[in-house]
Amino acid sequence: MTGAEGDRTVGLVTDFDVLVIGSGPGGQKAAIAAAKLEKRVAVVERRNMIGGVCINTGTIPSKTLREAVLYLTGLNQREMYGQSYRVKDDVTVADLGIRTQHVIGREVDVIRSQLSRNHVAVLTGSARFVDPYTVDVIDEQGRDVKVSASKIIIATGTRPARPDSVEFDEETIIDSDGILNLPTVPDSLVVVGAGVIGIEYASMFAALGTKVTVVERRERMLDFCDLEIVEALKYHLRDLAVTFRFGETVAAVEKRPRGAITLLESGKKIPAETVMYSAGRHGMTDELGLEAAGLAADDRGRISVDSFYRTAVPHIYAVGDVIGFPSLAATSMEQGRIAAHHACGEPLRGLSSQQPIGIYTIPEVSFIGQTEDELTRSHVPFEVGISRYRELARGQIIGDTYGMLKLLISPEDRSLLGVHVFGTGATELLHIGQAVMGCGGTVDYLVDAVFNYPTLAESYKVAALDAVNKLRRVAKFEL
Ligand SMILES: Cc1cc2nc3c(=O)[nH]c(=O)nc-3n(C[C@H](O)[C@H](O)[C@H](O)COP(=O)(O)OP(=O)(O)OC[C@H]3O[C@@H](n4cnc5c(N)ncnc54)[C@H](O)[C@@H]3O)c2cc1C
Repeated sequence: MTGAEGDRTVGLVTDFDVLVIGSGPGGQKAAIAAAKLEKRVAVVERRNMIGGVCINTGTIPSKTLREAVLYLTGLNQREMYGQSYRVKDDVTVADLGIRTQHVIGREVDVIRSQLSRNHVAVLTGSARFVDPYTVDVIDEQGRDVKVSASKIIIATGTRPARPDSVEFDEETIIDSDGILNLPTVPDSLVVVGAGVIGIEYASMFAALGTKVTVVERRERMLDFCDLEIVEALKYHLRDLAVTFRFGETVAAVEKRPRGAITLLESGKKIPAETVMYSAGRHGMTDELGLEAAGLAADDRGRISVDSFYRTAVPHIYAVGDVIGFPSLAATSMEQGRIAAHHACGEPLRGLSSQQPIGIYTIPEVSFIGQTEDELTRSHVPFEVGISRYRELARGQIIGDTYGMLKLLISPEDRSLLGVHVFGTGATELLHIGQAVMGCGGTVDYLVDAVFNYPTLAESYKVAALDAVNKLRRVAKFEL
C-alpha cells in the first residue's frame, strides 16, 4: 500500500496504488503506464465493455464497417472496372457484421492480454464513489465490493446524447450505438447532425446504396476543417446520392409502419426507413457518485481538469472523452499515460500542441495544424502548395483521381503551418507532415527528400515544389 493521504478509509476493502475507472483508450493506457511504474493497479469496467466505447461501439466497429463497405461494394475499384463493379451484389448486415465482430473479438483479446501481462486487476462492475479514496464496484447482480486507492483516474467516456423530444425505439429511430445493431441495410436513412460520427456513417451507408439525407442545424459542416476539402467531400457525398439539408432544425420524428417521417421546422417532411441521431455525446458521470468524491460535472457530464489531468480533488484525475474536446481515441490514450505518470510521481511533458485529426468518411480526411481560414483570421501570411493524386503515378494505379494534399507554408520561415489531406490513405499520409512539423522542418526538407516511386507520399514533394515555386514568384515580383 502506498501513501496515507488525508482521511482515507481502509476497512474491508481491497487497496491499490492506482484505480482506473473505465477501460477505453484513456483508462487502458493509464493502467498500463502505472503498472510499468511498478504500482499496484486495478481497472473497473462493466461487463462486456473491455476496451470501452472505442472497441465495442465506436472507433473499431465503425472503422471495420468502413473497411467492409469499401471491400464488398468495390467502390474504390470502379474508376478501373466501371460503375457497375461490385464484389457482392447485395451486401447484408451479416456480411458487414462478420468482419466487425471478428475485429472486436481480437481487439478485446489483445487488451485483456496486455492488462494481464502487466498484472493489472480487472474488476467487473460499475464504479461509484463512496468517498474520495474509495469506490463501490457493483456487478449486474447488485453485489458490491469496495476498492480503495491512493490515486484514482476517471476514464468513463461518453454515451450518445439523446434529445428528450425524440422517442428512440432502437429499431427505426436510433443513435450511433444502434446503427451497429440494424437488422438490415436500410433503403433510406436520415442522419440528424453532420458532426464527424454522423458524416462518417452517412458516407458508409451512401456507399452501400442507401439514400441518405443529412440534416444539420448549422450552415456548414466540419467547420474546423479546411473549407476546400469539406467542399470536395460534400461533392463526393452528393455524387453518392447524399442530400444535405443545412440550416434546418428537426421539429419532430414520427414513427410510421414503413419507417419514420422527419419533420423539419421549415415544413419539409423526409420519409426514411431509419433515422439516426448523431447529436453529440454526454459524459458518463451520472452514476459515478461524484459528489461523494467532492467533484461535480458540467451540464454535459464533463469533468474539468488542469494541464496534468488533475480534477479539483488533486489525487483524482480524469482523462479521455469525459473531459471533452478533442474526444478522440488517440488523444485519450496519451492523456491516460500523462495522468498516470503524474499520479505516480514521474511526470511527463504535456500533450504536444499539434494533434492530428482523422475523419474516416468515404473518402477520408485528415489534417494537422492550422486551416487557411484560421491563418487568415489571425493575419498570418501563408502560401499554399497542392498536389493532386491524379497527377501521381500511384493515384492512377489505385484509381484515386480525386485525392489531394495541401501544404500551408509560412513565407517568413518556410515552416509548415498546416497539412490537409483528402483521399485514399489520408489518415496515414498525414503523419509524414506531422513528423516534419514536430521536428521543426521546413518545406525545403520536402523539396530535397527523395520519396519512393510510385507512392502517395510523393504528393508531399509535389505540393512542396508547388509552394516553393509560388514563393519564388512572389520574391521575383518584389525585386
Ligand atoms: C461511432 C464512433 C466513431 C469514432 N471514431 C473514432 C476514430 O475514428 N478515431 C478516434 O480517434 N476516435 C474515434 N471515436 C472516439 C473514441 O472512440 C473515443 O475518443 C474514445 O473511445 C474515448 O476513450 P475513453 O478512454 O474516454 O473511454 P471510452 O472508450 O469512452 O470508454 C469508457 C469506458 O468506461 C466505462 N465506464 C463508464 N462508466 C463506468 C463506471 N461507472 N464504472 C465502470 N466503468 C465505467 C464504459 O463502460 C466504457 O467501457 C469514435 C467514437 C464513436 C462513438
